[in-house]
Amino acid sequence: MVRDNPLGESECTVSEALSFAEVELAGAGIAKPRREAASLLTYALGRDRAFLVAHPEFLIPAASIEWFEDAVARRAEREPFHYVVGWKEFYGLRIEVSRAVLIPRPETELLAEHAISLIEHQQQPVFCEVGIGSGCISAAILSNVPLAFGIGLEISTEAIAVARRNFERLGIASRIEVRQSDVFASVGSGERFDLIVSNPPYVPALELLQLQREVRQYEPHIALTDGGDGYSVIRRLIAGSPSLLSPGGYLSLEVGFGQSETVVQMFDPAAWDDVSLNTDLQGIDRVITARSRAK
Ligand code: GLN
Repeated sequence: MVRDNPLGESECTVSEALSFAEVELAGAGIAKPRREAASLLTYALGRDRAFLVAHPEFLIPAASIEWFEDAVARRAEREPFHYVVGWKEFYGLRIEVSRAVLIPRPETELLAEHAISLIEHQQQPVFCEVGIGSGCISAAILSNVPLAFGIGLEISTEAIAVARRNFERLGIASRIEVRQSDVFASVGSGERFDLIVSNPPYVPALELLQLQREVRQYEPHIALTDGGDGYSVIRRLIAGSPSLLSPGGYLSLEVGFGQSETVVQMFDPAAWDDVSLNTDLQGIDRVITARSRAK
Protein backbone atom coordinates (compact mmCIF):
# COMPACT_ATOMS: atom_id res chain seq x y z
CA MET A 1 0.00 0.00 0.00
CA VAL A 2 1.38 3.37 -1.02
CA ARG A 3 0.72 6.25 1.30
CA ASP A 4 1.92 9.80 0.63
CA ASN A 5 2.01 10.73 4.25
CA PRO A 6 1.90 7.74 6.53
CA LEU A 7 0.66 9.90 9.39
CA GLY A 8 -2.41 10.88 7.39
CA GLU A 9 -3.63 7.29 7.79
CA SER A 10 -5.24 5.87 10.87
CA GLU A 11 -2.46 3.30 11.10
CA CYS A 12 1.25 3.47 10.53
CA THR A 13 4.25 1.48 11.63
CA VAL A 14 7.04 2.49 13.96
CA SER A 15 9.50 2.64 11.08
CA GLU A 16 7.18 4.79 8.93
CA ALA A 17 6.54 7.18 11.81
CA LEU A 18 10.25 7.50 12.53
CA SER A 19 11.13 8.21 8.89
CA PHE A 20 8.37 10.82 8.61
CA ALA A 21 9.44 12.57 11.82
CA GLU A 22 13.13 12.44 10.95
CA VAL A 23 12.47 14.29 7.69
CA GLU A 24 10.27 16.89 9.41
CA LEU A 25 12.76 17.54 12.21
CA ALA A 26 15.79 17.58 9.90
CA GLY A 27 13.97 20.11 7.70
CA ALA A 28 13.47 22.31 10.78
CA GLY A 29 17.20 22.23 11.52
CA ILE A 30 17.02 19.99 14.60
CA ALA A 31 20.54 18.65 15.22
CA LYS A 32 19.78 14.95 15.87
CA PRO A 33 16.50 14.39 14.07
CA ARG A 34 16.44 10.58 14.22
CA ARG A 35 17.22 10.56 17.92
CA GLU A 36 14.56 13.14 18.76
CA ALA A 37 12.03 11.40 16.55
CA ALA A 38 12.65 8.19 18.48
CA SER A 39 12.47 10.00 21.84
CA LEU A 40 9.10 11.54 20.95
CA LEU A 41 7.83 8.17 19.76
CA THR A 42 8.77 6.53 23.06
CA TYR A 43 6.57 9.12 24.80
CA ALA A 44 3.75 8.62 22.28
CA LEU A 45 3.76 4.87 22.86
CA GLY A 46 4.80 4.69 26.49
CA ARG A 47 7.52 2.22 25.43
CA ASP A 48 11.30 2.40 25.52
CA ARG A 49 13.78 2.67 22.66
CA ALA A 50 14.54 -1.04 22.72
CA PHE A 51 10.90 -1.63 21.79
CA LEU A 52 11.20 0.69 18.76
CA VAL A 53 14.33 -1.10 17.59
CA ALA A 54 12.81 -4.55 18.10
CA HIS A 55 9.41 -3.78 16.52
CA PRO A 56 9.78 -1.59 13.41
CA GLU A 57 6.55 -3.11 11.99
CA PHE A 58 4.45 -2.44 15.10
CA LEU A 59 1.22 -0.64 14.18
CA ILE A 60 0.87 2.53 16.23
CA PRO A 61 -2.62 3.16 17.66
CA ALA A 62 -4.47 6.14 16.16
CA ALA A 63 -4.46 8.19 19.38
CA SER A 64 -0.69 7.82 19.71
CA ILE A 65 -0.19 8.84 16.08
CA GLU A 66 -2.25 11.97 16.69
CA TRP A 67 -0.17 12.90 19.75
CA PHE A 68 3.06 12.12 17.90
CA GLU A 69 2.15 14.17 14.84
CA ASP A 70 1.31 17.16 17.02
CA ALA A 71 4.51 16.71 19.04
CA VAL A 72 6.68 16.55 15.91
CA ALA A 73 5.04 19.72 14.54
CA ARG A 74 5.67 21.58 17.82
CA ARG A 75 9.28 20.43 17.98
CA ALA A 76 9.75 21.43 14.34
CA GLU A 77 8.73 24.94 15.45
CA ARG A 78 11.68 24.66 17.88
CA GLU A 79 9.52 24.38 20.97
CA PRO A 80 11.79 22.76 23.60
CA PHE A 81 11.49 18.98 23.83
CA HIS A 82 10.47 19.05 27.50
CA TYR A 83 7.58 21.48 26.95
CA VAL A 84 6.35 19.19 24.20
CA VAL A 85 6.39 16.12 26.44
CA GLY A 86 5.31 18.12 29.53
CA TRP A 87 7.86 17.05 32.10
CA LYS A 88 11.55 16.84 32.91
CA GLU A 89 13.46 14.74 35.41
CA PHE A 90 15.26 16.74 38.09
CA TYR A 91 17.18 15.21 40.98
CA GLY A 92 15.44 11.91 40.30
CA LEU A 93 11.99 13.53 40.50
CA ARG A 94 9.43 13.85 37.74
CA ILE A 95 8.78 17.59 37.39
CA GLU A 96 5.85 18.85 35.31
CA VAL A 97 6.81 21.80 33.13
CA SER A 98 4.92 24.25 30.94
CA ARG A 99 5.84 27.47 29.21
CA ALA A 100 5.10 29.28 32.50
CA VAL A 101 8.30 27.89 34.02
CA LEU A 102 11.94 27.38 33.12
CA ILE A 103 12.83 23.80 32.21
CA PRO A 104 15.02 22.56 35.09
CA ARG A 105 18.70 22.58 34.03
CA PRO A 106 21.11 19.80 34.97
CA GLU A 107 23.52 22.35 36.47
CA THR A 108 20.79 23.45 38.89
CA GLU A 109 20.97 19.99 40.47
CA LEU A 110 24.25 21.24 41.94
CA LEU A 111 22.38 24.04 43.75
CA ALA A 112 19.79 21.56 45.03
CA GLU A 113 22.47 19.11 46.16
CA HIS A 114 24.39 21.84 47.97
CA ALA A 115 21.23 23.23 49.60
CA ILE A 116 20.39 19.74 50.88
CA SER A 117 23.89 19.29 52.31
CA LEU A 118 23.63 22.60 54.21
CA ILE A 119 20.49 21.68 56.18
CA GLU A 120 20.14 17.88 56.17
CA HIS A 121 21.68 17.43 59.60
CA GLN A 122 19.72 20.25 61.24
CA GLN A 123 16.68 19.70 63.45
CA GLN A 124 13.52 20.73 61.56
CA PRO A 125 15.20 23.27 59.29
CA VAL A 126 13.09 26.00 57.68
CA PHE A 127 14.19 27.26 54.28
CA CYS A 128 12.94 29.89 51.87
CA GLU A 129 13.23 29.55 48.09
CA VAL A 130 12.98 32.76 46.06
CA GLY A 131 11.53 32.24 42.58
CA ILE A 132 10.36 28.64 42.75
CA GLY A 133 9.26 28.33 39.09
CA SER A 134 8.33 24.67 38.58
CA GLY A 135 9.23 24.04 42.24
CA CYS A 136 12.06 21.66 41.31
CA ILE A 137 14.62 22.92 43.85
CA SER A 138 12.21 22.97 46.80
CA ALA A 139 10.90 19.57 45.72
CA ALA A 140 14.43 18.13 45.74
CA ILE A 141 15.11 19.59 49.21
CA LEU A 142 11.81 18.43 50.72
CA SER A 143 12.12 14.96 49.21
CA ASN A 144 15.60 14.50 50.65
CA VAL A 145 15.30 16.29 54.01
CA PRO A 146 12.20 14.75 55.59
CA LEU A 147 11.98 17.15 58.53
CA ALA A 148 12.47 20.34 56.47
CA PHE A 149 9.73 22.90 55.91
CA GLY A 150 9.81 25.49 53.12
CA ILE A 151 8.40 28.87 52.19
CA GLY A 152 8.30 29.18 48.39
CA LEU A 153 8.17 32.67 46.89
CA GLU A 154 7.23 33.27 43.26
CA ILE A 155 6.00 36.36 41.39
CA SER A 156 4.25 34.51 38.55
CA THR A 157 0.79 33.11 39.33
CA GLU A 158 1.02 30.76 36.33
CA ALA A 159 4.28 29.34 37.67
CA ILE A 160 2.72 28.95 41.15
CA ALA A 161 -0.01 26.76 39.64
CA VAL A 162 2.59 24.46 38.06
CA ALA A 163 4.68 24.31 41.27
CA ARG A 164 1.61 23.48 43.40
CA ARG A 165 0.74 20.59 41.08
CA ASN A 166 4.29 19.26 41.40
CA PHE A 167 4.24 19.50 45.21
CA GLU A 168 0.86 17.74 45.34
CA ARG A 169 1.90 14.93 43.01
CA LEU A 170 5.17 14.41 44.89
CA GLY A 171 3.34 14.27 48.24
CA ILE A 172 5.18 17.24 49.78
CA ALA A 173 2.54 19.98 49.50
CA SER A 174 1.88 20.05 53.25
CA ARG A 175 5.55 20.87 53.90
CA ILE A 176 5.79 24.03 51.80
CA GLU A 177 3.85 27.27 51.94
CA VAL A 178 3.76 28.98 48.55
CA ARG A 179 3.30 32.76 48.43
CA GLN A 180 3.02 35.11 45.51
CA SER A 181 5.86 37.53 46.06
CA ASP A 182 8.30 39.85 44.31
CA VAL A 183 11.54 38.63 45.93
CA PHE A 184 10.99 39.05 49.72
CA ALA A 185 7.94 41.37 49.53
CA SER A 186 5.56 38.89 51.22
CA VAL A 187 7.95 37.82 53.98
CA GLY A 188 7.26 39.27 57.42
CA SER A 189 10.09 41.03 59.24
CA GLY A 190 9.82 38.54 62.12
CA GLU A 191 10.35 35.44 59.97
CA ARG A 192 13.69 33.60 60.15
CA PHE A 193 15.16 30.92 57.90
CA ASP A 194 18.05 28.51 58.21
CA LEU A 195 18.61 28.67 54.47
CA ILE A 196 17.59 30.97 51.63
CA VAL A 197 18.08 29.41 48.21
CA SER A 198 17.50 30.84 44.74
CA ASN A 199 18.15 30.32 41.06
CA PRO A 200 17.43 33.95 40.14
CA PRO A 201 17.02 35.46 36.66
CA TYR A 202 20.66 36.34 36.04
CA VAL A 203 21.00 36.52 32.25
CA PRO A 204 21.85 40.13 31.21
CA ALA A 205 19.11 41.57 28.98
CA LEU A 206 21.54 42.03 26.12
CA GLU A 207 22.61 38.39 26.24
CA LEU A 208 19.07 37.11 25.88
CA LEU A 209 19.34 37.55 22.13
CA GLN A 210 22.32 35.21 22.02
CA LEU A 211 20.54 32.30 23.71
CA GLN A 212 19.42 29.45 21.49
CA ARG A 213 16.05 29.89 19.82
CA GLU A 214 14.32 27.26 21.97
CA VAL A 215 15.17 29.23 25.11
CA ARG A 216 14.70 32.75 23.76
CA GLN A 217 11.41 32.12 22.05
CA TYR A 218 9.70 29.77 24.52
CA GLU A 219 11.07 30.02 28.05
CA PRO A 220 9.66 32.73 30.35
CA HIS A 221 11.89 35.81 30.13
CA ILE A 222 10.96 36.78 33.67
CA ALA A 223 12.74 33.62 34.87
CA LEU A 224 15.83 34.20 32.73
CA THR A 225 16.67 37.90 32.90
CA ASP A 226 16.25 40.85 35.24
CA GLY A 227 15.92 43.08 32.16
CA GLY A 228 19.17 44.82 33.13
CA ASP A 229 22.76 43.83 33.85
CA GLY A 230 21.86 40.39 35.23
CA TYR A 231 22.76 41.30 38.81
CA SER A 232 19.75 43.27 40.07
CA VAL A 233 17.81 40.36 41.60
CA ILE A 234 21.04 38.92 43.03
CA ARG A 235 21.72 42.32 44.68
CA ARG A 236 18.23 42.34 46.22
CA LEU A 237 18.70 38.79 47.52
CA ILE A 238 22.04 39.58 49.13
CA ALA A 239 20.74 42.85 50.61
CA GLY A 240 17.50 41.38 51.95
CA SER A 241 18.74 38.05 53.32
CA PRO A 242 20.78 38.96 56.45
CA SER A 243 17.75 40.16 58.44
CA LEU A 244 15.77 37.03 57.48
CA LEU A 245 18.43 34.44 58.28
CA SER A 246 18.93 32.80 61.65
CA PRO A 247 22.42 33.46 63.02
CA GLY A 248 24.73 31.21 60.99
CA GLY A 249 22.04 30.68 58.31
CA TYR A 250 23.02 30.29 54.66
CA LEU A 251 22.24 32.06 51.41
CA SER A 252 22.93 29.83 48.40
CA LEU A 253 22.55 31.11 44.84
CA GLU A 254 23.02 29.91 41.28
CA VAL A 255 24.90 32.40 39.11
CA GLY A 256 25.74 32.58 35.41
CA PHE A 257 28.96 32.01 33.52
CA GLY A 258 31.54 34.65 34.46
CA GLN A 259 29.46 36.25 37.24
CA SER A 260 30.99 34.67 40.35
CA GLU A 261 33.76 37.20 41.03
CA THR A 262 31.38 40.14 40.86
CA VAL A 263 28.84 38.40 43.09
CA VAL A 264 31.44 37.39 45.69
CA GLN A 265 32.32 41.10 46.03
CA MET A 266 28.69 41.90 46.87
CA PHE A 267 28.83 40.10 50.22
CA ASP A 268 29.60 42.68 52.90
CA PRO A 269 32.12 41.07 55.30
CA ALA A 270 30.35 42.81 58.18
CA ALA A 271 27.23 40.70 57.55
CA TRP A 272 28.66 37.54 55.98
CA ASP A 273 31.46 35.07 56.34
CA ASP A 274 32.51 31.81 54.68
CA VAL A 275 31.71 32.85 51.11
CA SER A 276 32.28 29.70 49.02
CA LEU A 277 31.93 28.55 45.41
CA ASN A 278 30.81 25.27 43.87
CA THR A 279 31.85 24.36 40.35
CA ASP A 280 29.62 22.55 37.86
CA LEU A 281 30.63 19.64 35.64
CA GLN A 282 31.91 22.06 33.00
CA GLY A 283 34.20 23.76 35.51
CA ILE A 284 32.05 26.90 35.77
CA ASP A 285 31.50 28.56 39.18
CA ARG A 286 27.79 27.90 39.46
CA VAL A 287 26.77 28.10 43.11
CA ILE A 288 27.75 30.79 45.62
CA THR A 289 27.03 30.25 49.27
CA ALA A 290 27.60 32.60 52.18
CA ARG A 291 26.97 32.27 55.87
CA SER A 292 25.26 34.94 57.88
CA ARG A 293 27.37 36.16 60.82
CA ALA A 294 25.92 35.48 64.23
CA LYS A 295 24.29 38.74 65.33
N1 GLN B 1 20.93 28.69 33.09
C1 GLN B 1 19.86 29.32 32.40
C2 GLN B 1 20.21 29.52 30.95
O1 GLN B 1 21.33 29.79 30.64
C3 GLN B 1 19.48 30.64 33.03
C4 GLN B 1 18.77 30.42 34.28
C5 GLN B 1 18.62 31.66 35.07
O2 GLN B 1 18.68 32.79 34.61
N2 GLN B 1 18.43 31.46 36.30
O3 GLN B 1 19.37 29.36 30.08
